[in-house]
Amino acid sequence: MMEDRLRLAAEAARGFMPAGEGLALYRSAASLEVDGPLLEVGSYCGKSAVYLGAAARQAGRVLFCVDHHRGSEENQPGWEHHDPEVVDPDLGLIDTLPFFRRTVADAGLEGTIVAVVGDSPTVASLWATPLAMVFIDGGHGTEPAHRDYEGWTPHVRPGGLLAIHDVFENPADGGRPPYEIWCRALSEGFFEERAAVGSLRVLRRVV
Ligand code: SAH
Ligand code: MG
Repeated sequence: MMEDRLRLAAEAARGFMPAGEGLALYRSAASLEVDGPLLEVGSYCGKSAVYLGAAARQAGRVLFCVDHHRGSEENQPGWEHHDPEVVDPDLGLIDTLPFFRRTVADAGLEGTIVAVVGDSPTVASLWATPLAMVFIDGGHGTEPAHRDYEGWTPHVRPGGLLAIHDVFENPADGGRPPYEIWCRALSEGFFEERAAVGSLRVLRRVV
């Protein structure tokens, strides 16, 4: 079955996307009814990009993957999600770009995925192409999460999808900012709820 192969390809990558949520991401992207490319904010080593990229490839779409590849606050040494193997020893800085490229090549997605290596708000401020789907999984602090929300949601086409990862309705389960931007999306009138699997939330742009 196609989804089993997809799960195996994604599980080969380091990262923070459980298979059930990744498959939900894939199915949402595969169900898109509007034209245009997809864009993810926060790619790390490419795990979620494999799920989104598979749907993009099937539809002949492009997936842009925006990440400076230096890691979020929570990926830095001493923090919960630190992996010493992704540190560039010469620079002493995280560099997930080589891992990301390897994941994309192994998954056969080099013709589908375009890496945009840079700071998300900087790229968002100069972005002009309407997007069929945006997936937000970048920095999870208050500033980064709200800036990603403000910078990227205006680029989602009406009828398109906005997915947000690490949304925890119960504060005991995890940090607040992804939950806060999900609440903003629901309350500001542009999006309605579409799907929820684990900490993944998918919304559809209505106007
Ligand atoms: N979606 C990934 C996990 C992303 S982890 C997966 O499926 O495994 C969060 C990522 O956001 C990190 O790789 C980090 O480098 C990136 N990030 C954090 N702040 C950023 C910013 N301001 N601009 C670009 N990327 C950022
Ligand atoms: Mg995440």
